[in-house]
Amino acid sequence: MQATKLRRLRLPTSWGELIIVGGSRAGDGTVILLPQLHLALDAGRAHRALPAMTTVVVSHGHVDHLGGIAYWASQRQLQSMGPARLLAPGAIAPGIEGLLATHANLEGGQPYEVEMVPVEAGERFSLRRDFDLVFFPTDHWVPTLGSRLVWRRHRLLSEYAALSGEEIAHRRSAGVTITEEIETNLLAYCADCGPGVLENQPQALAAEVLLIECSFYRSRDRERAVRYGHMHLDDMLESIDRLSCRHLVLLHPSRRHRLREVEEILADRLRPRLDCSLHHLMIDWD
Ligand SMILES: [Zn+2]
Ligand SMILES: [Zn+2]
Repeated sequence: MQATKLRRLRLPTSWGELIIVGGSRAGDGTVILLPQLHLALDAGRAHRALPAMTTVVVSHGHVDHLGGIAYWASQRQLQSMGPARLLAPGAIAPGIEGLLATHANLEGGQPYEVEMVPVEAGERFSLRRDFDLVFFPTDHWVPTLGSRLVWRRHRLLSEYAALSGEEIAHRRSAGVTITEEIETNLLAYCADCGPGVLENQPQALAAEVLLIECSFYRSRDRERAVRYGHMHLDDMLESIDRLSCRHLVLLHPSRRHRLREVEEILADRLRPRLDCSLHHLMIDWD
């Protein structure tokens, strides 16, 4: 079990301060937690921060994105933390269900209290009353779903803004529609992806917080990035004008690079080109 220190971001958004905790390294593991929503976007490694999450979304079948799910389910069971949900692309959901059943069987106890929810691109899932998850395909080399977090709320229609609470209550009880529902495209997680998402997923790029991978940084690795459906820094730079996020969070550096080297390249080549703030969740797992 890993006790590696995860990175912690506190990002101002229109919803309020959004806390994102995580760590990401290609091949070794990607774990992204939104503790305020008890939500994990991929659980690629066992980590003590995982069991508190009640919903885990698995983007694709690579072990660096789901290697922590058995630990998560087992620890929740052991600590009587109650039922939880695991969302995964329909194509791999039965395999994941079988994997968890095998682990529960090996442990000799009851099946884990995890509801398996298969999801597809374009589908919308109600995470809680005010938040939905919307799934979109990425251009990784195996079927992969990114996730968009949409914040929904009701706002008083502007023509009623000047009314007192009593007058508003009166109209509401008379059946008058006094509010409208508005949606905020709060966060997008692009999972493992190549440059295709930069062309094909404008809604993801328009999220206030964009979590996106950038695996490769050297020009000689451009071909490797294409072959394995990963992002190269040059892809990002070529499409930089398409980004309209408030916060850009980079993930998933290849082990061909030291993190210090990646941070220097980002500071030199990417940061000066950005209008938004730049962050990352890149770590070396112990
Ligand atoms: Zn990966
Ligand atoms: Zn992958």
